[in-house]
Amino acid sequence: MRTLLVSLISCVLLPGEAAIGQSRPLAGPDVRQIYDRLLPQIEQIPIFDHHAHPGFYDDTDVDAMAAPPGSSAFRERNDNPELIAASKALFGYPYDDLSAEHTKWLVEKKAELRKSRGVGYFSDILDKLNIEQGVANRAMMADYLDPKRFVWVFFSDSFLWPFDNTKERARNPDEEVYIPLQEKMLHRWMKQEGIAKLPPTFSAYLSFVTRTLEDNQKKGAIGEKFEVAYFRPATFSDPSREQAATIYKKYAAGGVPTEQEYRTFQDYVFRYLVREGGRLQLPVHIHSAVGIGDYFNISQGNIFNFENILRDPRYSTTTFVMLHGGYPYERQAIWLAAAKNVYMDSSFMELAMYPAEFKESLKIWLETFPDKITFGSDCFPYNAALGAEESYWLGVHSARAALTAALAEMISADEVSEGRALELARAYLHDNAVAIYHGKVH
Ligand SMILES: [Zn+2]
Repeated sequence: MRTLLVSLISCVLLPGEAAIGQSRPLAGPDVRQIYDRLLPQIEQIPIFDHHAHPGFYDDTDVDAMAAPPGSSAFRERNDNPELIAASKALFGYPYDDLSAEHTKWLVEKKAELRKSRGVGYFSDILDKLNIEQGVANRAMMADYLDPKRFVWVFFSDSFLWPFDNTKERARNPDEEVYIPLQEKMLHRWMKQEGIAKLPPTFSAYLSFVTRTLEDNQKKGAIGEKFEVAYFRPATFSDPSREQAATIYKKYAAGGVPTEQEYRTFQDYVFRYLVREGGRLQLPVHIHSAVGIGDYFNISQGNIFNFENILRDPRYSTTTFVMLHGGYPYERQAIWLAAAKNVYMDSSFMELAMYPAEFKESLKIWLETFPDKITFGSDCFPYNAALGAEESYWLGVHSARAALTAALAEMISADEVSEGRALELARAYLHDNAVAIYHGKVH
């Protein structure tokens, strides 16, 4: 009650705020008007893109894994007419369809700009969309991305797969694609650290892991990312170091671990990486939504399986960024952001849902922990014609429209003033994410 009184008083005293009465259950007829007034102001807010995969289609470093052939949800298919609008806006695409003959024009136009603009190519795309700076979540950074505009988040999953993965690969056709790529990534880290084969002891393995994180940070990385739910259940037990060391000793030189042994080893190493993320101030980004491919296990990959990690006081100095907001459980998952070190990122949600629906999810987020939510485009080069460029456009336009619509309804229903709504918009599009990195991004 005392807290309520104090906040009521501070509400009354806030300068420049119009008085707001009791909130109303229905938005008024002025929603459209408010939306039209707000949108140009929200378009003016420079974005920090908290999750994206910028790069060219023929660049294999865009991700540490690859998309297996599988079904795509309706809006993510190549025939989405919104992608034509994106190509028109970004490249002046002169056609109204994406026929093979016409997309040739687009592919050639991009190749020409790529040649003439060099490192400016992707910065130009950011400029067109008013993105000030953005994350490049990539296997390795690309020399064609300007480091002033793109900051690196690398992948940490591969440290979980050092043994003979014959059994892990055979679980389903998707793992047959994913796991060899994890092996490849691990070998790249080993090469980076000057290691020809797995270290003989577990403590030497863990120092190799730490050295990799530290060296990546020196190269400019601002965070480490896991997409672990693609490869195994997201439930992590709490084994001792001795348990993990025994398994390492048994299999480092060869042999196929049982599933239980592998999981126990991985549970320890995952927790180790989370702890190191805290020590190094390297926020931990975690894929927390449904995934691509036909075999992604939704119940085992469910964001709530991470709850024991997120709520563990031992990791209170680690910052967690839950990528894709736990979608399709985002409306419940926002409550995980109650923990002061847990943030929810809406990337991919704005691509999976049309703005009319994304607006509803965003509104619940804005009404619950508006200071803990961040924007990400999750752009990705899908094919030669439909690239990261078009998905940047789709992500940014969808999110700005949905954000404006959500705030317009909140203003109309007397939940927030227009001034406060614009503050919330800046927080979501820019300020909340930037504050996580202590001056390393802007
Ligand atoms: Zn992504």
